Amino acid sequence: NRRIVLAARPHGEPNASHFRLEEARMPVPKAGEVLLANRYLSLDPYMRGRMSAAKSYAEPVAIGDTMVGATVAEVLASDHPGFDVGDMVVGFGGWQEFTTSDGRGLRKLDPAAAPVTTALGILGMPGMTAYAGLRNIGRPKAGETVAVAAATGPVGSLVGQIAKRRGARAVGIAGGPEKCAYLRETLGFDAAIDHRADDFPDALAAACPDGIDVYFENVGGAVFDAVLPLLNSFARVPVCGLVSGYNATELPPGPDRVPVLMRAILTKRLHLEGFIVWDYAAQEQDFLDEVGSWLREGLIVHREDIVDGLENAPEAFAGLLKGRNFGKLLVRIG
Ligand code: NDP
Repeated sequence: NRRIVLAARPHGEPNASHFRLEEARMPVPKAGEVLLANRYLSLDPYMRGRMSAAKSYAEPVAIGDTMVGATVAEVLASDHPGFDVGDMVVGFGGWQEFTTSDGRGLRKLDPAAAPVTTALGILGMPGMTAYAGLRNIGRPKAGETVAVAAATGPVGSLVGQIAKRRGARAVGIAGGPEKCAYLRETLGFDAAIDHRADDFPDALAAACPDGIDVYFENVGGAVFDAVLPLLNSFARVPVCGLVSGYNATELPPGPDRVPVLMRAILTKRLHLEGFIVWDYAAQEQDFLDEVGSWLREGLIVHREDIVDGLENAPEAFAGLLKGRNFGKLLVRIG
């Protein structure tokens, strides 16, 4: 049973030295448990937070422990009435080949209804994040402008597509011309702007002639600086992620822009609200019904970036924080 453990806490960008591939004993299921072979591991930006000892909404991974993560797995043996050998399930199996479970936190998948990997992306936690953040905080109305960065990723790509389905205008922000072309041509965004281009703030302003009514915040940093002057009065900002700063080791250089932000919040009566996806766990079935049916009917599109081999997870994860992935990042195991 190969597994990847946290070897050291990174200061700044994570790299191979912060992980260790180990050969562990094969886990043995107890009475009432299932034995699972992980087939796909989801790599997600939140894992950077789990590598750090800083206080957050979830406990850090301890040094020497297996890295945490959501997985799609096959049931190899079952002493649990709810699962049969050969069933595919989504759960939280971590960065390893095999695991056992008493069934808590496992959901059985129907491979005929949707490819099983979607349970880690568009029909999984990232998709639910887009759905819940827009439904509860962003609340886009027809004719409004919705902007989102990391727009080709699993969260951002669904934010833009839901916005379109609600009759809003979708403006995507992504790194590089290839990702921007994909937003316009394949996902149907109304505009796509490259945040790495020199004229980014001006290009974003030109793409939002009526301002921004909903800014779904995935990245923070320079993108937020360009968005803030464009926010309309009463704009809503679901604060979902700040990936541009996850590897930061200190505050950005001055001047202190907090007063500018606070004045904008006051004068434009902005609504900024942080959320964690499972705050809205009660809406998961609504999400699966609505987004699942759009996917089956071909009304929405998703993209996966699949890396082969558990041993390649650390490098792929480091790349995720820098935009080297193009679509939902997954590792195929075994
Ligand atoms: P993605 O697959 O979109 O990967 C992250 C992307 O962020 C990169 O591909 C890159 O895209 C972009 N990025 C990285 N650095 C920068 C930067 N400096 N400036 C602008 N963009 C940058 O990830 P997800 O869709 O899985 O997650 C998106 C966000 O949602 C993350 O912040 C994540 O933490 C958050 N999240 C929050 C949840 C919650 O419960 N609140 C749950 C799930 C996700 P590009 O090449 O286009 O720049």
